[in-house]
Amino acid sequence: MNLVLLGPPGAGKGTQATKIAEKYNIPHISTGDIFRKNVKEGTPLGKKAQEYMSKGELVPDDLVIELVEDRLTEDDCKGGFLLDGFPRTVYQAEKFDVYLKEKNSAIDKVLDIDVEKDILIDRMIGRRVCKNCGATYHVKNMPPKKEGICDVCGGEIYQRADDTLETVSNRLQVYLEQTSPLIDYYEKAGNIAHINGAGALDKVFSEIVEVLGA
Ligand code: ADP
Ligand code: ADP
Ligand code: ZN
Repeated sequence: MNLVLLGPPGAGKGTQATKIAEKYNIPHISTGDIFRKNVKEGTPLGKKAQEYMSKGELVPDDLVIELVEDRLTEDDCKGGFLLDGFPRTVYQAEKFDVYLKEKNSAIDKVLDIDVEKDILIDRMIGRRVCKNCGATYHVKNMPPKKEGICDVCGGEIYQRADDTLETVSNRLQVYLEQTSPLIDYYEKAGNIAHINGAGALDKVFSEIVEVLGA
């Protein structure tokens, strides 16, 4: 099963992706996570990406496309994949379609998770992430059992540098201008499903399972 998660920042893509990956046994590939790992390790890619990420801008298309295509050649993607945060521009989507076609493959479903703006801002400002394993929490909605400590691995929990009020507004604007046109793009392709992301975690997940089949 080849899946793409679409939706504004803070919609809950990463949170749902963890559950989808587990249920359908496909790898969760988050371009944001890959960039953050590279930033942390100080790689050349990380240094380049950070310039854009810190401002809430998109990393240049060609850097992202190469990264994703590389990742998809790994063994764990043989039975499918779950992309979270890619594609994010029409250019990325077009290039990706060409890539898949060459491999005699295609996207089976694009899940468009939608949430209204006020909730998105609240979710991003309150988001906390494990430094070690990337597990995601929320100060009010999904706090860890022990403050500041990851339930999964015991790692330290931090706030992403781009989850500040200032950067969040820019990221929402970037989403509207550069990513939301993808809804139309996949509408035309006929493989998009719309998910209401405003409800509780399990309710959103049930809606996804209904679309994908149990
Ligand atoms: P995205 O990957 O789309 O940016 P995340 O999955 O990181 O979004 O979720 C953003 C924040 O909202 C996180 O702090 C997460 O814990 C919280 N969150 C995710 N889904 C829900 C939900 N259904 N209800 C309440 N909070 C949620
Ligand atoms: P969000 O929680 O906003 O959905 P992500 O973790 O997916 O955040 O992405 C964080 C940042 O990484 C983005 O603001 C952007 O700078 C960069 N990024 C991630 N994926 C892409 C992509 N497909 N194209 C361009 N930039 C990307
Ligand atoms: Zn952890």
